[in-house]
Amino acid sequence: MTAARIGIIGVGPRGLTVLERIIANERQQRSGDIEVVLFDPNVPGPGCHDPGQSDIHLVNTVAGQLTVFADASVVDAGPLMNGPSFFQWLQEQSSSGANGPLTPSRATPDAYYARGLFGRYLQWAFRYVSALAPPHVKIILKKTSVNRAHREDDGAWVLETPDAQIRVNYLFLTTGHTKPAKPPKVVPPRSAAQRRDTLVVDDPYPIQRKLAPITPDMSVAVEGMGLTTFDVVAELTVGRGGRFTAGAAPGELKYVRSGREPRIILFSRSGIPLSARAVNQKGVSNQYRARFLFADKLRELRAQRKLDFVADVLPLLVADMEYAYYDAYLRERGDAVTAVLFCNQLSGADASHRQALIARHVPVEDRFCWDRLAAPVPGHALAGQEGFRRWLTGYLRHDVQEARKGNLDSPLKAACDVLRDLRDNLRAAIEFGGLTEASHRWVLSEFMPIMNRLAVGPPQSRISEMLALMEAGVLQADFGPGATCQAAPPGGRMRLSATQWAGHSTEVDALVRARISMHSPKDDASPLLQGLLHDGYVRLYRNGGLHPGGIEIDRNHNWVADNGSTIANAWALGIPTEGIKFCTFVVPRPGVNSTALVDAGRAVGHLLASIRSGRSGHALKPASALPTEAEASAYASLYGAC
Ligand SMILES: Cc1cc2nc3c(=O)[nH]c(=O)nc-3n(C[C@H](O)[C@H](O)[C@H](O)COP(=O)(O)OP(=O)(O)OC[C@H]3O[C@@H](n4cnc5c(N)ncnc54)[C@H](O)[C@@H]3O)c2cc1C
Repeated sequence: MTAARIGIIGVGPRGLTVLERIIANERQQRSGDIEVVLFDPNVPGPGCHDPGQSDIHLVNTVAGQLTVFADASVVDAGPLMNGPSFFQWLQEQSSSGANGPLTPSRATPDAYYARGLFGRYLQWAFRYVSALAPPHVKIILKKTSVNRAHREDDGAWVLETPDAQIRVNYLFLTTGHTKPAKPPKVVPPRSAAQRRDTLVVDDPYPIQRKLAPITPDMSVAVEGMGLTTFDVVAELTVGRGGRFTAGAAPGELKYVRSGREPRIILFSRSGIPLSARAVNQKGVSNQYRARFLFADKLRELRAQRKLDFVADVLPLLVADMEYAYYDAYLRERGDAVTAVLFCNQLSGADASHRQALIARHVPVEDRFCWDRLAAPVPGHALAGQEGFRRWLTGYLRHDVQEARKGNLDSPLKAACDVLRDLRDNLRAAIEFGGLTEASHRWVLSEFMPIMNRLAVGPPQSRISEMLALMEAGVLQADFGPGATCQAAPPGGRMRLSATQWAGHSTEVDALVRARISMHSPKDDASPLLQGLLHDGYVRLYRNGGLHPGGIEIDRNHNWVADNGSTIANAWALGIPTEGIKFCTFVVPRPGVNSTALVDAGRAVGHLLASIRSGRSGHALKPASALPTEAEASAYASLYGAC
């Protein structure tokens, strides 16, 4: 009997979870002889977490909350195959003395470690998973890109690499972060005397090489104040020989210049950076459990009509944030019993009774306010540059203080962490066209930036570092919300200007666009995605007239072809599906029924059932075969239904 051949294009964390699920299943029950052919031009496992990058770049998740292995919390994803989380792996490395200079002698689950080290964990996990493959599963690694995929008449896929054509019966697309077609502009600098135009870096990764042309005499505008910006700042400061020392107060740092730093100016639409992650007090898998935003209720409503996020979802989400806030607020005042009584009353009350209850117990100035979180810059801070700078410094110091209290004990951080903990409930509302087109647009343009700023920021140390760099005069972030960097007149340099107040502008020598591209597959540089679209094997996902990104898939993660039928032997997971799915760019967390593992388990379950049934698996299914909302709910978060 010939082996069933499975192609996996892209072996980052997503491709790795597909491989892990195949092997875990096959160790328990043999589906047939299988060959898994893995394609990636890079080392298998790490994906975008380059193991060779400088250790100054950190993951933004604590080590205990990162894994690629399924566990008992993962619903319907197949059998378990134990494997260590990132923290457990680090611990093992430390005790075997294999950590080298990369980790402290004892790893802790609540620390943020180097992304390069995380890449090494993923590399190790690939080898570990491969070594556990039973004899009937053969793993073949092709260190190359797939540039084209086309189907033969019998439904098999022929994958074209630069130097071969390989036939597979089943295909997984897990290509993750790809580059947009427009080539990044890096204009090499000339000597200072000659240099008149501005160096523009559209994509700062790989960061050391891309930022190498930035010299100490330059002024660098950095567009965006998200996670990529913290990488850029680290590279241009510590990466240039500077260092941080402890300041006088807890959490305070001082920056010692090396003299090789350029002048750095940050600007963005909001004018403020992402908020600091609070000290983790939730262990590996504790999460806030919904009291208002129940996934089941959202699904019931979705079965009747499309949702309006602002009317149907946001009030419930805010109620859950209020709950977490007041619980921490009352406990902070030393009254745990009142906190419990208050929260019990809160969760049983309707909106008007909740407000009455809050009015009775909490002074106005201490109350939770979503509007203030969403738009924190007060009017008085926008009067001028000096006032904004003072306000921003105070805002960042307060953020550090709250982050140091922890994600359960700080009222502010407990509330913001709800956004992260209830992400699966938000998925229940948003994914697979749950929102009206207008509401979906609003979520992408307004809600997502707020959610990212409040809930998925950098470790607290990064905000302390930012304050130290501001104090040392190395970094400015005082151009206010909505500042712009305007195109230069021919032969001139670009100019960064504040829009909130007049007359505040400066010429810059370099502009770094510090964003990770979330471009549409139609704008992808890769001939693979372009070809799949061109040949009609996939189509862009659209919610009405909106294309939020990504390709269309059904709930089993099978591709939806241009003619609307699903392709039963091809699946896509992760970033190529961001659009119909929500927040696909996260690494699984242990013990929380992680969506990435659920998705991989589900797709692999269908793959192996097809192999077992002896079907070639290439038939086209009509689109009406999509599972219902009720069937889909079986795959929802463990916590969504509480
Ligand atoms: C700079 C950066 C930092 C991040 N930091 C964090 C973090 O700290 N914590 C966190 O949870 N998430 C982080 N993320 C989010 C990231 O999406 C996930 O961590 C995770 O890497 C996603 O896994 P993936 O496999 O979907 O994609 P990727 O990690 O991008 O892996 C995709 C793989 O597919 C390969 N590939 C692409 N096209 C082809 C092709 N045509 N043929 C063959 N192979 C191909 C690539 O070489 C790559 O190895 C970060 C992302 C970036 C870009």
